[in-house]
Amino acid sequence: MSSDSSLMTDYFSPQESHLNHPLFVNALQSIDEAAKLINCDPNILGRLKRPKRGITVSIPVRMDDYSIKVFTGYRVQYNSTLGPYKGGIRYHQDVCFGEVTGLAALMMIKNSVMGLPYGGGKGGITCDPTKLSRTEKQNLTRRYTSELGPFIGPTKDIPAPDVGTDSQTMAWMMDTYSQETGFAQPGVVTGKPVEIGGSLGRAGATGLGVVFVAERAFERVGKSMKGATIAVQGFGNVGSHAALYAHERGAKIVAVSDVSGAIYNGDGFNIPDVIDHIKENKTLINYPRCQHITNEELLCLPVDALFPCALEGQITEKNADKIQAKMIVEGANGPVTNDATKILHAKGVFVVPDIIANGGGVVVSYFEWVQDIMSFFWDEDEINNRLKSIITKAFDKGYTMSKEKNVDMRAAAMAVSIDRLQKAMLLRGLYPR
Ligand code: GLU
Repeated sequence: MSSDSSLMTDYFSPQESHLNHPLFVNALQSIDEAAKLINCDPNILGRLKRPKRGITVSIPVRMDDYSIKVFTGYRVQYNSTLGPYKGGIRYHQDVCFGEVTGLAALMMIKNSVMGLPYGGGKGGITCDPTKLSRTEKQNLTRRYTSELGPFIGPTKDIPAPDVGTDSQTMAWMMDTYSQETGFAQPGVVTGKPVEIGGSLGRAGATGLGVVFVAERAFERVGKSMKGATIAVQGFGNVGSHAALYAHERGAKIVAVSDVSGAIYNGDGFNIPDVIDHIKENKTLINYPRCQHITNEELLCLPVDALFPCALEGQITEKNADKIQAKMIVEGANGPVTNDATKILHAKGVFVVPDIIANGGGVVVSYFEWVQDIMSFFWDEDEINNRLKSIITKAFDKGYTMSKEKNVDMRAAAMAVSIDRLQKAMLLRGLYPR
């Protein structure tokens, strides 16, 4: 990812070095660019470029060997103009305040462009969850939730899963918050198991959203998903569901990857079989009847569509020239940098940005929250149909703006989002004036 230091000093004073992370710099670059497209009020723009509140907590955890290890956790509450803060919780060894702030800014933009009644937030703990036992993860999650107790809640800030966390993590968060407040509060987090107030369809929602968006993008360029060749980077919750739903719609998934490496089969993989293999073996490494390639080779395959569904900063100005995919649909947050988006757009590659492409997760989180508040639950068809209608509408708004302003879809979607935020911020005004 771009690490141009002159650029970073433009954005942050030396006292703000904790915010200086490439992901946040990228978000700020695209916010600036979008602001120009809609002639954003400079006072509004200044406010959009800094988080409203950032919380850092120390989390002492009893480990299995009975020692106590102190972890660091964060929750950044970026903006609450449109409603309660909303966004996931990441467990990863690279989590830091600047990264969480960048991800929280993206959540603000995503929630706004999706038309949801939410502000943006994100949280995380610097840890490698693959090295923690189930008990250690539970202790870590419960103490983190307890430290955040005064700042979260169904009307304040509603966390959800992200990289390294899942429905079990959310169940522990919901239980801890409920125990501490004295009664069951399912609406405090989304992405919970269905048994305790989760929503049908939430687990696969981000991947399904990626596929709905890809179908719409194919339609726009006069093609169909049926028979299209697709490479999927990352086989976690987002990548595996996106691969499965695209496979079910007749696409040929010619390459997939996980942390152990990438595999290629020109005839297309039987995705349910790959999923079963991972369930049994934990990694893709020994998958039969395929060619083993590197992650970089996967990204550069000549395919109809590439779904980067792993981490940020995968396609930068360093490798953008080598990309041969005709379309990129961002399943992860921030996989293609702003500079790389420009290079790809100039080459005619259609990049559908994360803030639309992976919005399915938070859209179904919204449905889960609404169902929890109503204590009335919907069937899966209703959920998926509503998801399709919301995400397709967001795609169309971004697409129309990109044609109107003759810009790439990231800049256009950002502009749609900032326009909504600006209107709401002007109506609410500044307190105190
Ligand atoms: N972590 C997901 C995202 O980045 C989901 C957030 C949510 O559901 O609140 O969009």
